[in-house]
Amino acid sequence: MKIYVTRMIPESGIKKLKDKGYEVDINPEDKVLSKQELVSALKQNPYDAVLCLLTDAIDGEIFDAVPSAKIFANYAVGYNNINIQEAKKRNIIITNTPGVLTETVAEHTFALMLAISHRVSEADRFTRAGKYKGWGPMLLLGSDLSHKILGVVGLGRIGSRVAYHGAKGFDMKVIYYDVNRNEEFEKEFNAEFKSNVNDVLKEADYVSIHVPLLDSTKHLINQQRLSIMKPTAYLINTSRGPVVDEIALVEALKNKTIKGAALDVFEKEPELMPGLADLENVILTPHIASATEETRSKMSEMAADNIIAALENQTPPNLVK
Ligand code: NAD
Repeated sequence: MKIYVTRMIPESGIKKLKDKGYEVDINPEDKVLSKQELVSALKQNPYDAVLCLLTDAIDGEIFDAVPSAKIFANYAVGYNNINIQEAKKRNIIITNTPGVLTETVAEHTFALMLAISHRVSEADRFTRAGKYKGWGPMLLLGSDLSHKILGVVGLGRIGSRVAYHGAKGFDMKVIYYDVNRNEEFEKEFNAEFKSNVNDVLKEADYVSIHVPLLDSTKHLINQQRLSIMKPTAYLINTSRGPVVDEIALVEALKNKTIKGAALDVFEKEPELMPGLADLENVILTPHIASATEETRSKMSEMAADNIIAALENQTPPNLVK
Protein backbone atom coordinates (compact mmCIF):
# COMPACT_ATOMS: atom_id res chain seq x y z
CA MET A 1 0.00 0.00 0.00
CA LYS A 2 1.21 3.49 -0.80
CA ILE A 3 0.22 6.56 1.16
CA TYR A 4 0.78 10.22 0.27
CA VAL A 5 1.03 12.78 3.08
CA THR A 6 0.66 16.36 1.87
CA ARG A 7 2.94 17.88 4.53
CA MET A 8 5.06 16.66 7.44
CA ILE A 9 2.97 15.88 10.52
CA PRO A 10 4.04 14.42 13.90
CA GLU A 11 5.82 11.11 13.48
CA SER A 12 3.48 8.95 15.60
CA GLY A 13 0.90 8.51 12.84
CA ILE A 14 3.52 8.05 10.14
CA LYS A 15 5.09 5.31 12.27
CA LYS A 16 1.72 3.54 12.54
CA LEU A 17 1.43 3.52 8.75
CA LYS A 18 5.00 2.33 8.27
CA ASP A 19 4.56 -0.39 10.94
CA LYS A 20 1.78 -1.75 8.74
CA GLY A 21 4.33 -2.12 5.98
CA TYR A 22 2.87 0.76 3.95
CA GLU A 23 5.12 2.95 1.82
CA VAL A 24 4.72 6.55 2.94
CA ASP A 25 5.67 9.50 0.72
CA ILE A 26 5.66 12.88 2.42
CA ASN A 27 5.81 16.25 0.71
CA PRO A 28 9.50 17.03 1.40
CA GLU A 29 8.95 20.77 1.68
CA ASP A 30 7.39 22.31 4.77
CA LYS A 31 4.88 24.34 2.78
CA VAL A 32 1.36 24.10 1.41
CA LEU A 33 1.40 22.59 -2.06
CA SER A 34 -0.34 24.55 -4.78
CA LYS A 35 -3.11 22.80 -6.67
CA GLN A 36 -0.76 21.96 -9.54
CA GLU A 37 2.00 20.76 -7.23
CA LEU A 38 -0.44 18.51 -5.39
CA VAL A 39 -1.85 17.12 -8.64
CA SER A 40 1.70 16.33 -9.87
CA ALA A 41 2.68 14.75 -6.56
CA LEU A 42 -0.41 12.53 -6.56
CA LYS A 43 0.16 11.44 -10.15
CA GLN A 44 3.64 10.09 -9.29
CA ASN A 45 2.32 6.86 -7.83
CA PRO A 46 -0.92 4.90 -7.65
CA TYR A 47 -1.51 5.94 -4.04
CA ASP A 48 -4.05 3.97 -2.03
CA ALA A 49 -4.66 6.74 0.49
CA VAL A 50 -3.96 10.42 0.99
CA LEU A 51 -3.46 12.13 4.32
CA CYS A 52 -4.37 15.79 3.72
CA LEU A 53 -4.54 18.99 5.74
CA LEU A 54 -7.08 21.80 6.11
CA THR A 55 -4.87 23.96 3.91
CA ASP A 56 -5.32 21.57 0.95
CA ALA A 57 -8.34 22.36 -1.24
CA ILE A 58 -9.49 18.86 -2.15
CA ASP A 59 -11.89 18.81 -5.11
CA GLY A 60 -12.78 16.72 -8.15
CA GLU A 61 -9.52 17.60 -9.93
CA ILE A 62 -7.49 16.32 -7.00
CA PHE A 63 -9.54 13.11 -6.72
CA ASP A 64 -9.10 12.52 -10.47
CA ALA A 65 -5.31 12.91 -10.13
CA VAL A 66 -5.22 9.81 -7.93
CA PRO A 67 -8.06 7.46 -8.94
CA SER A 68 -6.44 4.62 -7.00
CA ALA A 69 -7.01 6.39 -3.65
CA LYS A 70 -9.73 4.87 -1.55
CA ILE A 71 -9.57 7.37 1.28
CA PHE A 72 -8.61 10.99 1.96
CA ALA A 73 -7.96 11.30 5.69
CA ASN A 74 -8.17 14.94 6.76
CA TYR A 75 -5.85 16.00 9.56
CA ALA A 76 -8.50 18.27 11.15
CA VAL A 77 -11.99 18.02 12.60
CA GLY A 78 -13.31 20.65 10.16
CA TYR A 79 -13.53 19.39 6.57
CA ASN A 80 -14.75 22.47 4.70
CA ASN A 81 -11.58 22.16 2.58
CA ILE A 82 -12.96 18.97 0.97
CA ASN A 83 -15.69 18.78 -1.65
CA ILE A 84 -17.73 16.01 -0.05
CA GLN A 85 -20.17 15.76 -2.98
CA GLU A 86 -17.29 15.11 -5.41
CA ALA A 87 -15.91 12.47 -3.03
CA LYS A 88 -19.30 10.76 -2.79
CA LYS A 89 -19.64 10.68 -6.58
CA ARG A 90 -16.39 8.71 -6.72
CA ASN A 91 -17.03 6.56 -3.62
CA ILE A 92 -14.00 8.01 -1.88
CA ILE A 93 -13.96 7.72 1.89
CA ILE A 94 -13.41 10.97 3.81
CA THR A 95 -12.42 11.00 7.48
CA ASN A 96 -11.57 13.70 10.04
CA THR A 97 -10.09 13.91 13.55
CA PRO A 98 -12.89 14.81 15.98
CA GLY A 99 -12.62 14.77 19.76
CA VAL A 100 -8.86 14.53 20.27
CA LEU A 101 -8.46 18.28 19.83
CA THR A 102 -11.54 19.40 21.77
CA GLU A 103 -9.79 20.16 25.08
CA THR A 104 -6.86 21.88 23.41
CA VAL A 105 -9.04 24.14 21.27
CA ALA A 106 -11.20 24.97 24.30
CA GLU A 107 -8.04 25.86 26.25
CA HIS A 108 -6.84 28.09 23.43
CA THR A 109 -10.26 29.74 23.29
CA PHE A 110 -9.89 30.60 26.97
CA ALA A 111 -6.31 31.73 26.44
CA LEU A 112 -7.69 34.19 23.87
CA MET A 113 -10.63 35.21 26.03
CA LEU A 114 -8.41 35.94 29.03
CA ALA A 115 -5.78 37.62 26.89
CA ILE A 116 -8.23 40.03 25.26
CA SER A 117 -10.13 40.85 28.46
CA HIS A 118 -6.97 41.35 30.53
CA ARG A 119 -5.21 43.09 27.64
CA VAL A 120 -2.27 40.68 27.90
CA SER A 121 -0.74 41.25 24.44
CA GLU A 122 -1.25 44.99 24.62
CA ALA A 123 0.35 45.07 28.08
CA ASP A 124 3.24 42.94 26.86
CA ARG A 125 3.86 45.34 23.94
CA PHE A 126 3.62 48.29 26.35
CA THR A 127 6.10 46.78 28.80
CA ARG A 128 8.62 45.69 26.17
CA ALA A 129 8.50 49.17 24.64
CA GLY A 130 9.83 50.55 27.94
CA LYS A 131 6.59 52.44 28.60
CA TYR A 132 6.13 50.99 32.10
CA LYS A 133 7.17 53.77 34.44
CA GLY A 134 5.51 52.50 37.61
CA TRP A 135 2.27 51.01 38.93
CA GLY A 136 -0.78 53.10 38.10
CA PRO A 137 -4.36 52.84 39.37
CA MET A 138 -5.73 53.45 35.87
CA LEU A 139 -3.09 51.60 33.91
CA LEU A 140 -4.42 49.22 31.23
CA LEU A 141 -7.74 48.46 32.88
CA GLY A 142 -9.38 45.36 31.47
CA SER A 143 -12.59 43.41 32.08
CA ASP A 144 -13.40 40.42 34.27
CA LEU A 145 -14.58 37.09 32.97
CA SER A 146 -16.00 35.89 36.26
CA HIS A 147 -19.80 36.12 36.62
CA LYS A 148 -20.21 37.50 33.10
CA ILE A 149 -22.41 36.07 30.34
CA LEU A 150 -20.71 33.66 27.98
CA GLY A 151 -22.51 33.26 24.66
CA VAL A 152 -21.58 30.09 22.80
CA VAL A 153 -22.51 29.84 19.12
CA GLY A 154 -22.38 26.14 18.23
CA LEU A 155 -22.58 23.95 21.34
CA GLY A 156 -20.87 20.88 19.87
CA ARG A 157 -17.77 19.17 21.22
CA ILE A 158 -15.60 22.29 21.45
CA GLY A 159 -18.41 24.73 22.24
CA SER A 160 -19.60 22.63 25.17
CA ARG A 161 -16.07 22.28 26.55
CA VAL A 162 -15.70 26.07 26.37
CA ALA A 163 -19.06 26.43 28.12
CA TYR A 164 -17.90 23.97 30.78
CA HIS A 165 -14.78 26.04 31.52
CA GLY A 166 -16.84 29.22 31.63
CA ALA A 167 -19.50 27.79 33.94
CA LYS A 168 -17.26 25.77 36.23
CA GLY A 169 -14.08 27.82 36.15
CA PHE A 170 -15.39 31.38 36.06
CA ASP A 171 -18.99 31.11 37.30
CA MET A 172 -20.13 32.50 33.98
CA LYS A 173 -23.77 32.33 32.95
CA VAL A 174 -23.85 30.31 29.72
CA ILE A 175 -26.29 31.10 26.95
CA TYR A 176 -26.03 29.34 23.60
CA TYR A 177 -27.37 29.03 20.09
CA ASP A 178 -27.17 25.85 18.04
CA VAL A 179 -29.31 24.19 15.41
CA ASN A 180 -29.67 21.35 17.92
CA ARG A 181 -30.81 22.02 21.45
CA ASN A 182 -29.07 20.11 24.30
CA GLU A 183 -31.41 20.06 27.30
CA GLU A 184 -29.19 17.71 29.28
CA PHE A 185 -26.34 20.20 29.00
CA GLU A 186 -28.69 23.03 29.99
CA LYS A 187 -29.66 21.22 33.19
CA GLU A 188 -26.11 20.31 34.13
CA PHE A 189 -24.63 23.75 33.52
CA ASN A 190 -27.68 25.93 34.15
CA ALA A 191 -27.27 27.05 30.54
CA GLU A 192 -29.94 28.81 28.53
CA PHE A 193 -30.83 27.98 24.94
CA LYS A 194 -31.64 30.80 22.54
CA SER A 195 -33.49 29.83 19.40
CA ASN A 196 -32.09 32.85 17.57
CA VAL A 197 -28.39 33.69 17.37
CA ASN A 198 -29.29 37.39 17.70
CA ASP A 199 -30.44 36.81 21.28
CA VAL A 200 -27.02 35.41 22.16
CA LEU A 201 -25.29 38.37 20.52
CA LYS A 202 -27.48 40.91 22.29
CA GLU A 203 -26.95 39.51 25.78
CA ALA A 204 -23.47 38.01 25.91
CA ASP A 205 -20.38 39.72 27.31
CA TYR A 206 -18.19 37.16 25.51
CA VAL A 207 -19.34 35.55 22.27
CA SER A 208 -17.39 32.44 21.33
CA ILE A 209 -17.92 30.87 17.91
CA HIS A 210 -17.73 27.08 17.46
CA VAL A 211 -19.83 26.23 14.39
CA PRO A 212 -18.38 24.42 11.37
CA LEU A 213 -17.98 26.43 8.15
CA LEU A 214 -21.04 25.62 6.02
CA ASP A 215 -23.10 27.62 3.54
CA SER A 216 -25.44 28.33 6.47
CA THR A 217 -22.66 29.65 8.73
CA LYS A 218 -20.67 31.77 6.25
CA HIS A 219 -20.80 35.37 7.54
CA LEU A 220 -23.09 34.23 10.36
CA ILE A 221 -21.47 37.13 12.22
CA ASN A 222 -22.07 40.06 9.89
CA GLN A 223 -22.30 43.84 10.18
CA GLN A 224 -25.91 43.76 11.38
CA ARG A 225 -25.20 41.14 14.04
CA LEU A 226 -22.07 42.90 15.26
CA SER A 227 -24.17 46.04 15.64
CA ILE A 228 -26.50 44.37 18.17
CA MET A 229 -23.66 43.21 20.42
CA LYS A 230 -22.97 45.19 23.59
CA PRO A 231 -20.29 47.87 23.22
CA THR A 232 -18.54 46.16 26.17
CA ALA A 233 -18.63 42.71 24.52
CA TYR A 234 -15.82 40.64 23.03
CA LEU A 235 -15.94 38.27 20.05
CA ILE A 236 -13.74 35.17 20.06
CA ASN A 237 -13.44 33.06 16.92
CA THR A 238 -11.57 29.75 16.91
CA SER A 239 -13.86 28.06 14.35
CA ARG A 240 -13.25 29.11 10.73
CA GLY A 241 -12.49 32.60 9.43
CA PRO A 242 -15.35 32.99 6.92
CA VAL A 243 -17.93 32.54 9.69
CA VAL A 244 -17.17 36.18 10.54
CA ASP A 245 -17.41 39.00 7.98
CA GLU A 246 -13.93 40.35 8.67
CA ILE A 247 -14.45 43.69 6.87
CA ALA A 248 -17.46 44.33 9.12
CA LEU A 249 -15.46 43.21 12.14
CA VAL A 250 -12.60 45.63 11.43
CA GLU A 251 -15.16 48.45 11.18
CA ALA A 252 -16.87 47.36 14.42
CA LEU A 253 -13.52 47.30 16.22
CA LYS A 254 -12.46 50.66 14.81
CA ASN A 255 -15.79 52.26 15.73
CA LYS A 256 -15.81 50.56 19.15
CA THR A 257 -19.19 48.97 18.32
CA ILE A 258 -17.73 46.08 20.33
CA LYS A 259 -14.88 46.22 22.81
CA GLY A 260 -12.53 43.71 21.28
CA ALA A 261 -11.98 40.50 19.36
CA ALA A 262 -9.67 37.54 19.60
CA LEU A 263 -9.18 35.50 16.45
CA ASP A 264 -7.34 32.29 15.68
CA VAL A 265 -8.79 32.04 12.17
CA PHE A 266 -9.16 34.53 9.35
CA GLU A 267 -11.40 34.96 6.37
CA LYS A 268 -8.61 34.79 3.77
CA GLU A 269 -5.90 33.23 5.85
CA PRO A 270 -2.98 33.52 5.99
CA GLU A 271 -3.80 37.07 4.81
CA LEU A 272 -5.26 39.51 7.30
CA MET A 273 -7.96 41.98 6.42
CA PRO A 274 -6.38 45.45 6.00
CA GLY A 275 -6.51 47.38 9.26
CA LEU A 276 -6.94 44.36 11.51
CA ALA A 277 -3.34 44.15 12.70
CA ASP A 278 -3.21 47.91 13.40
CA LEU A 279 -5.85 47.68 16.09
CA GLU A 280 -4.95 47.41 19.78
CA ASN A 281 -8.27 45.80 20.74
CA VAL A 282 -7.61 42.52 18.93
CA ILE A 283 -5.58 39.44 19.66
CA LEU A 284 -4.50 37.42 16.64
CA THR A 285 -3.06 33.90 16.66
CA PRO A 286 -2.11 32.00 13.48
CA HIS A 287 -4.63 29.12 13.48
CA ILE A 288 -2.90 27.30 16.33
CA ALA A 289 -5.87 26.43 18.55
CA SER A 290 -5.12 22.70 18.30
CA ALA A 291 -1.35 23.14 18.21
CA THR A 292 -0.01 21.32 21.23
CA GLU A 293 2.47 18.49 20.92
CA GLU A 294 0.09 16.06 22.61
CA THR A 295 -2.90 16.89 20.44
CA ARG A 296 -1.10 17.08 17.13
CA SER A 297 0.36 13.61 17.81
CA LYS A 298 -3.11 12.26 18.60
CA MET A 299 -4.45 13.80 15.38
CA SER A 300 -1.62 12.16 13.46
CA GLU A 301 -2.44 8.75 14.97
CA MET A 302 -6.17 9.19 14.41
CA ALA A 303 -5.67 10.04 10.72
CA ALA A 304 -3.41 6.97 10.41
CA ASP A 305 -6.00 4.73 12.14
CA ASN A 306 -8.63 5.95 9.70
CA ILE A 307 -6.40 5.08 6.74
CA ILE A 308 -5.49 1.67 8.15
CA ALA A 309 -9.16 0.80 8.75
CA ALA A 310 -10.16 1.85 5.23
CA LEU A 311 -7.32 -0.09 3.62
CA GLU A 312 -8.23 -3.15 5.69
CA ASN A 313 -11.78 -2.88 4.36
CA GLN A 314 -13.23 -1.83 7.71
CA THR A 315 -15.33 1.23 8.41
CA PRO A 316 -12.94 3.97 9.58
CA PRO A 317 -13.74 5.23 13.09
CA ASN A 318 -14.11 8.86 11.98
CA LEU A 319 -16.05 8.64 8.79
CA VAL A 320 -17.44 11.93 7.44
CA LYS A 321 -20.92 11.22 6.14
P1 NAD B 1 -19.05 19.70 16.37
O1 NAD B 1 -19.61 19.14 15.12
O2 NAD B 1 -18.96 18.84 17.58
O3 NAD B 1 -19.84 21.05 16.79
C1 NAD B 1 -20.38 21.95 15.88
C2 NAD B 1 -21.72 22.44 16.44
O4 NAD B 1 -22.20 23.46 15.56
C3 NAD B 1 -22.78 21.34 16.49
O5 NAD B 1 -23.38 21.31 17.77
C4 NAD B 1 -23.78 21.73 15.41
O6 NAD B 1 -25.12 21.36 15.72
C5 NAD B 1 -23.60 23.24 15.40
N1 NAD B 1 -24.05 23.85 14.14
C6 NAD B 1 -23.90 23.40 12.88
N2 NAD B 1 -24.44 24.26 12.01
C7 NAD B 1 -24.95 25.28 12.74
C8 NAD B 1 -25.62 26.48 12.41
N3 NAD B 1 -25.90 26.80 11.14
N4 NAD B 1 -25.98 27.29 13.41
C9 NAD B 1 -25.72 26.96 14.70
N5 NAD B 1 -25.09 25.85 15.07
C10 NAD B 1 -24.70 25.02 14.10
O7 NAD B 1 -17.61 20.24 15.97
P2 NAD B 1 -16.39 20.59 16.95
O8 NAD B 1 -15.50 19.42 17.07
O9 NAD B 1 -16.91 21.26 18.16
O10 NAD B 1 -15.62 21.66 16.01
C11 NAD B 1 -16.27 22.86 15.63
C12 NAD B 1 -15.48 23.58 14.58
O11 NAD B 1 -14.32 24.15 15.16
C13 NAD B 1 -14.93 22.70 13.45
O12 NAD B 1 -15.88 22.49 12.43
C14 NAD B 1 -13.74 23.47 12.95
O13 NAD B 1 -14.08 24.28 11.86
C15 NAD B 1 -13.35 24.35 14.13
N6 NAD B 1 -12.02 24.01 14.66
C16 NAD B 1 -11.04 24.94 14.62
C17 NAD B 1 -9.79 24.63 15.13
C18 NAD B 1 -8.66 25.62 15.10
O14 NAD B 1 -7.52 25.21 15.01
N7 NAD B 1 -8.92 26.90 15.22
C19 NAD B 1 -9.53 23.37 15.67
C20 NAD B 1 -10.57 22.45 15.70
C21 NAD B 1 -11.82 22.78 15.19
